[in-house]
Amino acid sequence: MPSKRTKRGVARTPIDGDYDVIVCGASFAGLATARELAGMRRSDGDSARVLILDRYEIGERQTSACATPEPWLDALGLRQSMLQSFDELVLHTYGKAIRLELPWSFATFDYRLLCSLLAEQCDAEFETATVTGTQAPGRDGLVTIETDRGDLRAPLLVDALGWRRVLGPKGYQPPEAPLSRGLEVHPHGSGDALEVWVDRSLIPAGYGWSFPAKEEVRVGVGSFDPRTHVRRPTVALAETANRPADGYQGNWIPHQLRNATEGEIFFAGDSAGHCLPLTAEGIRTAFYFGIAAGREIRRVVEGRATRATSLRRYAAFSAAHDRQFRMLLDLQRLVPHLPPWLMATAARAAGGRKFTQWSFNRYLNAAHPSFASPAPRKQRAHPLHRAAGLAKA
Ligand SMILES: Cc1cc2nc3c(=O)[nH]c(=O)nc-3n(C[C@H](O)[C@H](O)[C@H](O)COP(=O)(O)OP(=O)(O)OC[C@H]3O[C@@H](n4cnc5c(N)ncnc54)[C@H](O)[C@@H]3O)c2cc1C
Repeated sequence: MPSKRTKRGVARTPIDGDYDVIVCGASFAGLATARELAGMRRSDGDSARVLILDRYEIGERQTSACATPEPWLDALGLRQSMLQSFDELVLHTYGKAIRLELPWSFATFDYRLLCSLLAEQCDAEFETATVTGTQAPGRDGLVTIETDRGDLRAPLLVDALGWRRVLGPKGYQPPEAPLSRGLEVHPHGSGDALEVWVDRSLIPAGYGWSFPAKEEVRVGVGSFDPRTHVRRPTVALAETANRPADGYQGNWIPHQLRNATEGEIFFAGDSAGHCLPLTAEGIRTAFYFGIAAGREIRRVVEGRATRATSLRRYAAFSAAHDRQFRMLLDLQRLVPHLPPWLMATAARAAGGRKFTQWSFNRYLNAAHPSFASPAPRKQRAHPLHRAAGLAKA
């Protein structure tokens, strides 16, 4: 795990100022949004000022098992961060192991390096600050963001702060809110298979995973029911694989799409419920919707659209994915109720090459890598990259 580098105590000097765009959150969704704003000029010809805020330094805190479709890493110019690639997925269900041959590969990656590579493609300023809320827009249309280091203002704001949706109304909390629970350990070790367990004896509603990442294996369990604790099954799964339960990391995972805008705020990634239900895959969707938000914001800054129009267009873009998200949510609700024999039969049928290829291609289409703009051909050491103190890859 990366060591802590975030400024503490007196080093957290006050900040203030006005920006064209403030992106809150410097993980998958926030960095993808900011990447889309690189080189942006305002309608008056001046360079736009974009600020990214996060409570930690960029890449300091890994937020997931970091497995994603490999084509997304290529689409964003992030191949260097890849640790391992997998052409098949091994599904364990009620004593059966079914090998699914994938039409595209999944890859595990190094979180810190991936964030650093994304940051290199942005030209935003960066500050570590904890965002605590917003105030209603003033007459000048600027919205105030409140942080532990002071207030900042911008007409365009993105909440890419994860499931808490800090800039939205309060009260969206587990266990009432539609959130899954995820926990994993990162024991030292190696492996060559991407494995998933669907078995009620492990977790009544949810699944377990083991994702090798070169020198460690990310082993975890997710429960669709927020009331079910996952520590015991996570340890049990690690023990089954003969791995020590080291390096705990967990979080809530949204499994229901939410409005992608509210007032003047754009929400992207987990803050908008953009994590896919059933699989809890939220990295590529955070990229995808972050890019969409970035494109809409760019239109406003460049004078090609009003803020109201871009907010409306982005909200409609996100909502247009509702059917796919609902279908996965229906499956998420159904699968735990399937009797073991039916689950094993369905998995074997799904393991047929044609069906696997068709279903995984459809699944990828929900947030396809062709949506990404190409990475700049020559990546440069960027102010944001330098400010974050990240080693050049
Ligand atoms: C155990 C576990 C394993 C997972 N494994 C996978 C996986 O392998 N593949 C996959 O696709 N998905 C996985 N997911 C889901 C995935 O992690 C999320 O969907 C994804 O991280 C969402 O990205 P995001 O950028 O929206 O939010 P996040 O990655 O959660 O980033 C939010 C950012 O905001 C910052 N922040 C939060 N609050 C504040 C604040 N108040 N002020 C300032 N900064 C703040 C955080 O520091 C962070 O940098 C997993 C989830 C869990 C819990």
